[in-house]
Amino acid sequence: MRPVIALVGRPNVGKSTLFNRVTKSRDALVADFPGLTRDRKYGTGVIGERDYLIIDTGGLSGDDAGIDEYMAKQTWLAVDEASIVLFLVDGKQGLTAADEMVANRLRREGKVVYLAVNKTDAVDPDQALSEFYGLGFAGMFAIAATQGRGVTQMMNLILDEAPEGEAEELPDEDDDSIRIAFIGRPNVGKSTLINRIMGEERVVAYDKPGTTRDSIFIPFERDEQKYTLIDTAGIRRRGKINEAVEKFSIVKTLQAIESAHVVIMLLDAQETITDQDAHLLGMILDTGRALVVAINKWDGLDAYQREQIETKLDLKLPFIDFADKHFISALHGTGVGHLYQSVLDAHASSMIKVSTPRLTRMLETALAEHQPPLVNGFRIKLRYAHQGGNNPFIVIIHGNQTSKIPGSYKRYLMNYFRITLKLKGTQVRLIFKTSD
Ligand code: GDP
Ligand code: GDP
Repeated sequence: MRPVIALVGRPNVGKSTLFNRVTKSRDALVADFPGLTRDRKYGTGVIGERDYLIIDTGGLSGDDAGIDEYMAKQTWLAVDEASIVLFLVDGKQGLTAADEMVANRLRREGKVVYLAVNKTDAVDPDQALSEFYGLGFAGMFAIAATQGRGVTQMMNLILDEAPEGEAEELPDEDDDSIRIAFIGRPNVGKSTLINRIMGEERVVAYDKPGTTRDSIFIPFERDEQKYTLIDTAGIRRRGKINEAVEKFSIVKTLQAIESAHVVIMLLDAQETITDQDAHLLGMILDTGRALVVAINKWDGLDAYQREQIETKLDLKLPFIDFADKHFISALHGTGVGHLYQSVLDAHASSMIKVSTPRLTRMLETALAEHQPPLVNGFRIKLRYAHQGGNNPFIVIIHGNQTSKIPGSYKRYLMNYFRITLKLKGTQVRLIFKTSD
């Protein structure tokens, strides 16, 4: 199982600099959609063969009450979800009272904690380290996040020592069932929808569900198609109602998205679209998973309200125009049955195979219909295209000066492939390779 690392420390010690260095940036792959908020707080990284999830916390001042209360709460939630804590301090500034307060609290959490003394490009690393010995953390590293000095070495050691996670009972990879994750903020209706689907007469639940620490996998069959439902909220439905307000777990959510073929993103028709909705959508787009959008709680709204919501959705979330949208009521069952066809379409689109000659011909037609722009008087040349992967559907395009292609032209090409191949519910990702 993938280790989860929480990055904690005071503001300005270099957390986001380090975070950006150790996460693979997907920004290069995903076209910049106007209006899409990307939550750069959660990222994945790879060192050698090992991958990890890293959480950049808000920053602690040591004063958990008062104005920093909200940020502190978020940070400690992240620490709670993590298997490893990376405590970052500023070597240039030296040990502060706030560092000591954070250290005290961390010791009480009983987590594996590593101390990284950052900004040691500006000072003598040994001297900087010595100032922090008193905090009593065994694993200490001198790093410089801006230059990347010491960072890979540190990450390697941390991952070497990472505690072995419990084995996961993942559903069978080759049982040709479509794995669906239900994603949405708390109270949007995920459990209600899952209960509705499981209670439906045309659904045949079979086998016993698999479980991981984070989710339950429920297999079922409908119209001779196998599905596996990934239920992150399931723990609560199994009876632990005493935890009335379930903590929203970003780690669980991300893991559910990544283990799914198709994500059903739920929005609440009776509430406005929030930043949390946009962040969740950003996460789904980052992973590239096939997507179906369900606008829930459609009941109780009149025609005028419905029309308003549709307009607002198009306006606020234009970057999910590739996904089917369904207006449903999980409570009454209205519209729920229509989700299956969209899930099937999205899955089929995301798994499409297209030959190199066909993709190249498509590229040529796209170029003929709308030429790439001139860059310093020279025309960008795109020569051929081949498929680079599935779910998301990736097209690798070879040419010259490809780094100069503007976002608008990339979006044109993405849409061209999507429309020509009649893709639904899957993103098209373009990767450009320059051959000169
Ligand atoms: P955060 O608030 O903890 O996320 O800190 P940031 O990553 O935003 O960094 C705060 C400031 O410290 C920025 O101006 C960074 O450029 C600077 N910084 C980060 N890492 C280093 C480093 O290794 N050396 C030096 N000299 N400055 C750094
Ligand atoms: P979850 O936190 O996303 O799993 O949300 P729940 O399934 O627990 O639902 C939260 C609340 O919304 C509950 O009170 C549900 O009864 C209610 N709810 C769920 N679906 C609908 C719906 O389609 N219409 C209405 N009016 N309420 C709903």
